[in-house]
Amino acid sequence: MSKRVKKELKEITDEVIACKKCPLYEYRKKNKFYPVIGEGNHRAEIMFIGEAPGFNEAKTGRPFCGAAGKILDELLESVGIKREEVYITNVVKDRPPNNRDPNSEEVKAYSPFLKRQIDIIKPKVICSLGNCSTDFIFKKYGLEGKIQGISKVHGKVFSVDKINIIPLYHPAAATYNPNMKEIMKKDFQILKRLKNET
Ligand code: URA
Repeated sequence: MSKRVKKELKEITDEVIACKKCPLYEYRKKNKFYPVIGEGNHRAEIMFIGEAPGFNEAKTGRPFCGAAGKILDELLESVGIKREEVYITNVVKDRPPNNRDPNSEEVKAYSPFLKRQIDIIKPKVICSLGNCSTDFIFKKYGLEGKIQGISKVHGKVFSVDKINIIPLYHPAAATYNPNMKEIMKKDFQILKRLKNET
């Protein structure tokens, strides 16, 4: 692992931990939560981006370690990709109260950390999980004209700047509706194809 990459990612971790101006800092402290920065392979070709940590994630500091994470693990396994191969993070690094969606102020405050993570890891494939993450990534890569809701764009590949952006349903959707899992598994097949091409 490159020392530079490790150092730069550690800087992000330290900055988020100390970020008193981050809108969810006080809430994190009051609840003895951890920020969830991201984890996985620092040379990952595939980066998964969720929206924000849930309760289990904020209690442990690890992304996708609760119910949605179990589904993500299952989806990865279905296409023969190990969790250790990929990098997993979120747009917002602290848990919003009551699992509500992150608001625009939170996205604005935390997303510079995500942008730096993308610049450091340089994934070839970015999988945005759900609407919040997809809207953010589409805006970042000049695809705002294509924003139309995850049910319209899931499983499609958008290539920009040599990066393949793949919006996917958020794994949590399968915890409310088990039928979604088959659709998600079908969408994940694209990752197998892209992996075989590289
Ligand atoms: N949902 C997310 O968007 N991110 C997590 O880390 C966990 C659940």
